[in-house]
Amino acid sequence: MTHANASPLTADSPNALAAVEAEIARACKDARRDRASVTLIAVSKTFAADAITPVIEAGQRVFGENRVQEARSKWPALTSVYPGIALHLIGPLQSNKAKEAVALFDAIHSVDRPSICQALAKEIESQKKHPQLFVQINTGEEPQKAGIAPGDADAFLASCRDTYGLQISGLMCIPPVDEPPAAHFALTAKIAARNGLQNLSMGMSADFATAIALGATHVRVGSAIFGHR
Ligand SMILES: *Cc1c(COP(=O)(O)O)cnc(C)c1O
Repeated sequence: MTHANASPLTADSPNALAAVEAEIARACKDARRDRASVTLIAVSKTFAADAITPVIEAGQRVFGENRVQEARSKWPALTSVYPGIALHLIGPLQSNKAKEAVALFDAIHSVDRPSICQALAKEIESQKKHPQLFVQINTGEEPQKAGIAPGDADAFLASCRDTYGLQISGLMCIPPVDEPPAAHFALTAKIAARNGLQNLSMGMSADFATAIALGATHVRVGSAIFGHR
């Protein structure tokens, strides 16, 4: 999909959402999974409220953002009009933003180091708010990418629980762009299974069907719904 400007995007996004929904339903059926076992996170990063509104109007209620500041500047106005929206932070988190992140988000997919665990534990305690937490796994061990190396995952998950008292609900991964994603999804699922974690945040616009086949419970889909960024 290519678009010359923002207006056709907002007009097309409900249709694009329906197409993504159909693809998720098909992937669930192929994998003999219940559609309700997969949450579609519509990734609205970089898109303004006028592009997001038609997608909310079409019934979507779960959205993903990758920056705390951007989310703070556009979502409170939308959530005051549309109740029942869940916001997921899918991008990197700095410790000094943990307070705002816990206040704004219903889920955080980027837990990836002790300083973040500490900051989140403090805010969860003081705000009495419990966002769903995912530990990000750097399955490709890419130096520029956030996340825990697969070999360090079990120890990190144990320290989340034992040192910081955090309840981790699942794992998240972003496979390397230049590799087939299936092995990365399978590795993430394997680490989750051996640590007793139920949730798997994996799959984006190009590969969410593959991710569902390999057990994804949360797919993060941006451009296939909103158009190119
Ligand atoms: C932007 C982003 C997505 C969505 O990517 P698309 O290819 O547009 O679907 C998913 N996950 C993360 C972590 C992202 O930053």
